[in-house]
Amino acid sequence: EETLLEVKNLKKHFNVRNGVLKAVDGINFAIKRGETFGLVGESGCGKSTAGRTIVKLYDATEGEVLFNGENIYKYKGQKLKKFNQQMQMVFQDPYASLNPRMTIENIIGEGIDIHGLASGKERKEQIYQLLQDVGLNSEHAGRFPHEFSGGQRQRIGIARALAIQPQFIVADEPISALDVSVQAQVVNLFKKLQRERDLTYLFIAHDLAMVKHISDRIGVMYLGKMMEITTSEKLYSHPLHPYTVSLLSAIPIPDPEVEKKRERIILQGEVPSPMNPPSGCPFRTRCPKAMAKCAESMPEMKEVEPGHFTACHLY
Ligand code: SF4
Ligand code: MG
Repeated sequence: EETLLEVKNLKKHFNVRNGVLKAVDGINFAIKRGETFGLVGESGCGKSTAGRTIVKLYDATEGEVLFNGENIYKYKGQKLKKFNQQMQMVFQDPYASLNPRMTIENIIGEGIDIHGLASGKERKEQIYQLLQDVGLNSEHAGRFPHEFSGGQRQRIGIARALAIQPQFIVADEPISALDVSVQAQVVNLFKKLQRERDLTYLFIAHDLAMVKHISDRIGVMYLGKMMEITTSEKLYSHPLHPYTVSLLSAIPIPDPEVEKKRERIILQGEVPSPMNPPSGCPFRTRCPKAMAKCAESMPEMKEVEPGHFTACHLY
């Protein structure tokens, strides 16, 4: 399988009033064409910033993002425009991300216009088709965002992203703001569209339960760093990093026999400020397995088993 996107030592630091905020601090991973890569971590761990840097809404402080083998930060002119067409973002808040004064038709049509993909009757037909593809219909085209439910608005956000025929979509917590009852429907919609359109996803979420069913592989972030990467299956059945184990502990298991046997880690305290992260392993202030050397150096990401990577001194 061919690699579509490769993230190499990516850093995004922000200069803020009291110093430097290292939101993303040297992460590495690759996503294959047609794959869904889940990016998970508590809020403030840098996953949204990583997503935005990968679609070039932010410039990187350091490192590279290779898309089809080319460094996206070197794109200019026509190449940049083409790249902007191939990558799209779906945002967390379907209320805030749709312009309340625009009709659905114009919200979805905006990208078609910018990239000159269609006009007139053809543009209208494309918009109607997109509405249908996301589970809405042409009668919705003339309406405004406030006339829709949260789940419908997220469908509109997805149709807008699809309008310019991207290859790659970064979905930043696209179901977190939705009612539990509609979350599964929207996840299923993402899956259906992926099959139909050969899409590749970076799917960001704050809890592991949400990404389990959509992700092929998952990366776990903590304080701007990557802690573990492996297949969705392995991450659940055989997590290695103590932080991943703690995240999984928070998900209830319905089977009491399994529940009894599993290792539980209940996290103490809050995530430290990314302005002032702990020395060495950033997780050490909350890690029940921390050792002296955890304060001294940041563990390297190691391939502990084939395709299973973790950054922890226990391995
Ligand atoms: Fe815990 Fe040390 Fe591993 Fe960090 S490196 S997760 S502190 S054991
Ligand atoms: Mg976020």
